[in-house]
Amino acid sequence: MTNEEIIKIFQNSKALLEGHFKLRSGLHSNRFFQAALLLQYPNLAEQVCVELAKQFADVKIETVISPAVGGLIVGQEMGRALKVRAIFADKVNDELVLKRGFKFKPGEKVLIAEDVITRGGRVQQTIDLVRSLGAEVVGIGVLVDRSGGQATFDIPHKSLIKLELETYNPAECALCKAGLQIDTPGSKS
Ligand code: ZN
Repeated sequence: MTNEEIIKIFQNSKALLEGHFKLRSGLHSNRFFQAALLLQYPNLAEQVCVELAKQFADVKIETVISPAVGGLIVGQEMGRALKVRAIFADKVNDELVLKRGFKFKPGEKVLIAEDVITRGGRVQQTIDLVRSLGAEVVGIGVLVDRSGGQATFDIPHKSLIKLELETYNPAECALCKAGLQIDTPGSKS
């Protein structure tokens, strides 16, 4: 699949919109992105994760782990594509913990799967968790890297696409100045 074809899938599912948006941060942008809007369609989730899993064809992986909540579907689909088990870490007081009876054996080869990285904090927490439990992180796969190259780990991560999201202060927003109507697609109301 080409980069354009992948972007098309995100656009068709409305996970990626072009226009004039007010983000949760209050900043304005010409793009809106919400991975869950693609992942709500299991066939599309499978399709993009099969594509991401191809990048790990040469890596020996025993288990996929993903951080709750955003990573869960990606972890599940990556596990399916790689034919290994998929587990997840729960978030408790902003820490990641392994619950529900999930365990690693010593030295187990683990792939971390996540939907989106922006600053990479959640992936780093997952790396730390896996290592603290005596397993080995052998790869990191994310659907969308929004970090603009800012998120780095001591194991290189692979992404399906890199997405630049320009943001503007409302006072300086050219789209506002042009009188474009603004949408708030991420709002809870
Ligand atoms: Zn604006």
